[in-house]
Amino acid sequence: MGIACAHEASGSTGRWHVDGAYIRAVTGAGGVPVLIPPAGDSKRLEAVLDRVDGLLLPGGIDVDPYLYGEEPLPGLGKVDPEWDALDVAAARAALARGLPVLGICRGAQVLNVAAGGTLYQDIPAQVPHALQHWQNRPGWAASHSVSVVPDSLLAGIAGRRRLRVNSFHHQAVKDVAAGFRAVAHGADGVVEAIESLVHPYALGVQWHPERMAHEPHHWRLFLSLIEAARAWRAARGGREIFGEERVFDAEFSLRDIKEN
Ligand code: MN
Repeated sequence: MGIACAHEASGSTGRWHVDGAYIRAVTGAGGVPVLIPPAGDSKRLEAVLDRVDGLLLPGGIDVDPYLYGEEPLPGLGKVDPEWDALDVAAARAALARGLPVLGICRGAQVLNVAAGGTLYQDIPAQVPHALQHWQNRPGWAASHSVSVVPDSLLAGIAGRRRLRVNSFHHQAVKDVAAGFRAVAHGADGVVEAIESLVHPYALGVQWHPERMAHEPHHWRLFLSLIEAARAWRAARGGREIFGEERVFDAEFSLRDIKEN
């Protein structure tokens, strides 16, 4: 399972890294994490993606509005052209080849922009009567509800029409990209998940399931991603490089999260 790296612009060249929660979610679900930094050019990035069975696009900072044809508004947060370049190229390559891809928070926004959609640069300034989408409580705790569109990939995975989710975003999907549809909304109408209409597994969720893995309907997102990756590998007759999936130890995990 490829995981696109985050970029921290420190020092002269910065640091490329992945938050441990994503690695833990992938390994716990039976996957083998492969960290993906920039490869030098798109050909080499595609060669890297040839060697993984899925792609996880993690959370992070804002996406540059230039990528969807807008000028920056005052409420736009920090953006990073190098990080955007990696994420958008990886997302486009995954979508083009049908590689299973799960976008989380920024990753969901990246999927939408990579496929031609747009974003709200700043929810409080642009969405009237919006809920609080940057919660004042721990990340493992849900803060608002979302309604899930029936008969969607997400509804099948989560196994319910209503979910309680955490929320750490001030950007959100505005115009859903062609070939995608919105499959979850907050009570304020903000898009909380998108999925492809044509690709077998291209899903983006606006919340952070890796921080709520103690809840089965969030944990199942990772199990489903690894399952899609296994199917992708099997369809190509490749060698299995998956591990045993663990039953997620909710009590241990929650205690662990609370103590950290
Ligand atoms: Mn939210």
